[in-house]
Parts: sequence; C-alpha cells; structure tokens
Amino acid sequence: MESEITIRPEVVLKGIAAAPGIACGAAYLYSKHVPQVQVKSIVPKEVEGEVQRLRNATSRSEKELSKIHAFAEQRLGSQNARIFEAQIMILSDQILMGSIEKRIGAELKNAEAIVADEINKYKRVMLASPDEYMHERAHDVDDIMNRIIRNIQDQKLYSRLEGESIIVSETLAPADTVVFSRNQILGYATDMGGVTSHAAILSRSLKIPAVVGLRTATKLIKTGDTIALDGYAGVVVLNPTEETLQTLMQKRQRFKEFEERLVDIAGLPAETPDHKHIELSANIEFDDEIEFCRQQGSAGIGLFRTESQLIGKERYPTEEEQYEVYRAVADGISPHSVIFRTFDVGGDKIGPDTEHEENPFLGWRGIRAMLDRPELFLAQLRSILRASSGKNVRIMFPMVSNVTEILRAKAMVEQAKKELNTRGMPYDAGVKVGVMVEIPAAAVMADQIAGEVDFLSIGTNDLIQYLLAVDRNNNAVQSVYQPFHPAVLRTIKHIIEAGHKRGVWVGMCGEMAGDPLATVLLVGLGIDELSVIPVVLPEIKKIILSIRQRDAKRVAEKALSLPTDQEVRDYLWSVMRDRLPEIPFEEQSDIGVPP
Ligand code: PEP
Ligand code: MG
Repeated sequence: MESEITIRPEVVLKGIAAAPGIACGAAYLYSKHVPQVQVKSIVPKEVEGEVQRLRNATSRSEKELSKIHAFAEQRLGSQNARIFEAQIMILSDQILMGSIEKRIGAELKNAEAIVADEINKYKRVMLASPDEYMHERAHDVDDIMNRIIRNIQDQKLYSRLEGESIIVSETLAPADTVVFSRNQILGYATDMGGVTSHAAILSRSLKIPAVVGLRTATKLIKTGDTIALDGYAGVVVLNPTEETLQTLMQKRQRFKEFEERLVDIAGLPAETPDHKHIELSANIEFDDEIEFCRQQGSAGIGLFRTESQLIGKERYPTEEEQYEVYRAVADGISPHSVIFRTFDVGGDKIGPDTEHEENPFLGWRGIRAMLDRPELFLAQLRSILRASSGKNVRIMFPMVSNVTEILRAKAMVEQAKKELNTRGMPYDAGVKVGVMVEIPAAAVMADQIAGEVDFLSIGTNDLIQYLLAVDRNNNAVQSVYQPFHPAVLRTIKHIIEAGHKRGVWVGMCGEMAGDPLATVLLVGLGIDELSVIPVVLPEIKKIILSIRQRDAKRVAEKALSLPTDQEVRDYLWSVMRDRLPEIPFEEQSDIGVPP
C-alpha cells in the first residue's frame, strides 16, 4: 500500500502587528498552568500554619519577581523594568496581605482559597471596565495571584524550552515575556492583547517580533507545528508553503537592510529634498516611553494622552501628582517640545467618575466633560503650566465642536495663570494653545477655530468615525472605517487650508499620520506636523526624506480626484512602488490578508 503524505493546508491568521520582525519555526503552545484552587476548611489550630504558608509563598514570589526585575533591568533598562516593581508592590501591600491573613483566621479556610477570592475581587473591577488598558492590567493581577498560589502549593514554574521556538499563548504577562526571552525565542503570537499591552511594549524593547490579538491562535496551533510570524503585517501563517516562506525570508532581508539604513537617519530632521520641513514627533501615553522616542529620532511629543494617568485610579490625580509626570516628560524630551492634551475622558476612556451613558462616543467626552468640572480642569491646567517653565510645553484640547468651547477653555488657561501668579510660581507666559480637529463640525469651522488658537492637530481616529458614522471599535463595521475615503481626504485638505489661511500650523496625531501609505498624500496636502507611534517613526521619516513636496502635491491632487477609497489606495500603492522602490512597503495583497 502506498504511504500517504498529508500536506496540511496553509492557514493565515490576521492579528495586530505588535513588534516588528519576521520569524519562522516551531510553535510552542504555552498554556499557562493555572493552579487549581480548592476551598478547604481548616480548624483554628491550623490557622497559624496556614498564615505561615502564605507568608512563605509571598516571600518566594517576591524573590522570583525580584530576579525577573533584575534580569529585565539588565535587558531592557530601568524604565521598562518598572512593571515588575509594580507587581512586587502588590505583594508588599500591607492592606491586601493583612486582609488575606485576617480572613484565613476569621473564615477558617485555606490560604489559596482566600488569596484567589481576594485578588479576584480586584480583577473583576478591572475587567468590568470598558477600557482596554484596564483589561491588560487585569492579566498582570492574574499573574501575581497564580504566582502566589503556585508557591503556596509548592509547584514548579514552567520548564525550559528546548531549542528555538515561537511562543503561542492566549495572553502573555510581562514576566512571561522577559522570562521566555532567556530562552531562544523567535517570536510571540497571542490570542489577546493590543499594541498597548505591556507584553507588546516589552517585546518591542527586546526586539522579538510579536503579533497579538489573533483570537484563535491557541485553538488552531499545536506545539511543534511550523509557523511563520510577520510582525510587520500582524500575520501568523500556520503550515506555511515553501512559497510563503520564501516570500517572508525575502521580506525579512529587505526590512533588515532597510532598518540598518534607517539608523543613520535618526538624527536628521524630517525634510523633503525641496526643503519642506515636517515636524515628525511621537504619540505617547507614559513618561517611560520617552527614551524609545529619542532612539527613534523623534522631534518631540505631538500627543501626550494625559488621560492614561487616570487608568485604574479611583480619583483624579492632584495638581502635584500631575505636575510630577508632566515635568518628567517636559524635561525628558527637552530641548524638543511636548503637547499635553488635556484629559480626554468619556467614550471608551473611563475616568474615575465616568457614569453610564447610552451613547458614550456622542456623550460627555473630552473638553465637554472638563468644562463642566472647572476645579479639575484648573488643577490640570496649573500642573501643565508649571511644567512649561522650560518653554517647551504646549496645551491641546480634545473633542472641540465649536468656537465657544475654545473661548471658555482659553479663559480657564488665563485663570490658571492668574492663580499661579498669586502663588508666585513660574510658567511660560507665551505657552501655545491648540485644539484637536476630530469632530466634523470643527473641521467645517476650521477657519474660525484656527483664528482662536496657535495650532490644529487632526485626530483622524475620531474624525473618521464621526465623519463616516462608523464606530472605531466595532469589528463588524471595520471595512467601512476607511482613512482613504474621499470624504476624509477632502476634509483633511479643507482643515489644512483653513489653518494656513489663518497662519497657524496644522498637524495630525491620529493613526493615519503613522500609515506609510498616507505619508506622500499628507505631505502633498501641506501637513506641517505628523505625530506617530514611535515604532513607525523612522520609516515615515525615510519617506519624507525621499519625496519632493512638489511631486507629493501632484500625487495628492490625483488622489483627491478619485471617487472611492479603493482607488485611492491602489493609486497610492502604485506611487510607492514606482517612486520609492527602496522602501519595503507592506503589500496588502501579499500574505497579510485574512482568508
Ligand atoms: C484621534 O482621535 O485621532 C486621537 C489621536 O485621539 P484618541 O485616539 O485618543 O481619541
Ligand atoms: Mg480622539
């Protein structure tokens, strides 16, 4: 009988590109060993022993985490290793640990049952939040819980991996990412997570390619399966064909050569060959991202999302607490400047006092919410102003829909200045104030709005959602969410022209600013500033350095004459291929499209 060779079909999984690079190899399915917890009753004389077991386990967990912390510090630097300090702090939280110990005695139950119950309470609160960042942090809490329980039960951690592998898992905690990096890890593929997950941030720092948000990777992939991971396109291919492997290897080579050349341009200003200077800056949420921005050659911070400080907080931070953060950012990025966007709470970003709304994206969001809470708003403005004394700080208001809001917000800035004068505190009296143009009404009124401010920054993430009436977070309508929709292009053109007529610069800080396919178009439309996620910054700079504004203008004119987003995309692809062949663009038709 003839032996049958089964050729397993190639399966393409589309996720989110979290850390650049390409990896091919054997998968290692990492299913976190979740220790089983049984609730057991104990008798009073066993309480002391049980508390001792808990204390031993806590101190062992602390030792493990300290080791990981030291290793992470060595590999990643102290800023990135701070995640583990936070985990160690949970372990030494006297209130949490004290209450666990008390409950063991009061309820006469085994230590692991109380640990699981108490820490799960924390987790439930975090998971109930609609905020993606809170969900990510809930996994970190899980990690601590499992670590303590595993140590109470005296179980070993995971075994070392044999050979090189690509880790496939539902989710990865920051500690896993670092511990695994001691092995020969080629890449990470996870079902859950987003680009903001700390595991994603760490894999970028560790330079290990990663794709997150794959949803079904752990169901389809088994240990030992051959997989290819494309951290540029956000794709994982199970059972890749020879042809796919070859394409990916060529791509890896192209990107490698390209990235090596990019190192040289980090120190250069982003300027077209015919001398149109573009302020190329970065979007960040935390002060510890500054180091990476500098390495990437960023000319400042074009968007600091201050509301990220509210994550997991039960109250708004005080003026002093905020000042510390803003001061660290302003000093860290000096002599470049930073734009602090005032709290953009509401929508999918919860604040400490966010209430349920039927339509949160059309609700009490951004500047609307802050104008209604003058005390909070003034405290934030004072702290930003205090951080401005080095004259490298700008203030920006989100979700502006009319001129009146701007006048009111500016009056608040003046009031905050007066309050600082009374206290004798220094600030930059000439601090520049701008707004985000992210609501269609603001786009239509851009000329009047520009007359009231020093700069405009186009927030395409929201502008597209409101202009095209498509929820930016709803997967079911993602195909309608089109940055290259002709209406979006015309609106951007209108905003830029309106700003220029009034003599103010116009930037863009929505994700579209960091899409390499959009760069030539935006330069051609006359954009003055692009603020992008730090990881794409060198590539965007390379494009700016490569194309004359004169030519980009012609490209923009042609793109604006096309009737559909697909035609705009196809045209822009053709421009990239013809004019910038040295830039290894992400070909959508390549492997990166879901079946
Ligand atoms: C935007 O809307 O484009 C933007 C940059 O703000 P956010 O994504 O924080 O809403
Ligand atoms: Mg927005």
